[in-house]
Amino acid sequence: MRLLIGSSNPGKVVEYRRMLAGLEAVLVSPDQLRPVPEEPAEEHATYAENAAAKAAAYAAATGLPTVADDSGLEVDALGGAPGVRSRRYFGEHAPAEERNAKLLALMEEAPQRSARFVCVVALAYPGGPTETFEGIVRGEIAATPRHGDEGSGFGYDPVFIVGGDGRTMAELSPDEKDSVSHRGLAVAKLRAHLAGEPR
Ligand code: IMP
Repeated sequence: MRLLIGSSNPGKVVEYRRMLAGLEAVLVSPDQLRPVPEEPAEEHATYAENAAAKAAAYAAATGLPTVADDSGLEVDALGGAPGVRSRRYFGEHAPAEERNAKLLALMEEAPQRSARFVCVVALAYPGGPTETFEGIVRGEIAATPRHGDEGSGFGYDPVFIVGGDGRTMAELSPDEKDSVSHRGLAVAKLRAHLAGEPR
């Protein structure tokens, strides 16, 4: 069976290839297909709706079972922003460094720095049902971006300190990130589902 990783975000694709390794499926990303399927728009109000719509649209366009997610960073001092609009909030095509700098500037006067990453992973079969799996990791926004030696992580990882750890998500090794991250927790539920375990 071929399983499509429904994302045009290279950081996410790398993580899915790692986290889904060992499944009896050949993992393919959209850029390996011809024609390359377009990434469906995220136009809904919730992560679950966006993830399900994205996975179902990729599955319909390619005829392949598809895993896709919608994720976001929710900062308490910003009323939960950027949240479900995390991709566009600080400029969709702006480099991560610029988006992180804008976030830190907004946090200068913040009375508290608590935040969480949320991810909903959807699994869709062409013409079939769509299942969703949620993962959440709590933490806080760092004062300055911090990257690790292994250069793992992407997006907001350098400014998100994982709860109880002291390191930012970008300072964790890839395996460490997978074991605590919002995406890793959601994928663990997906893997249990694929293995036939009750939810
Ligand atoms: P989307 O799920 O593709 O809509 O991405 C939402 C936004 O959150 C993007 O800007 C991503 O870069 C960011 N994001 C999603 N997951 C992560 C993560 O694991 N670490 C850091 N940033 C992330």
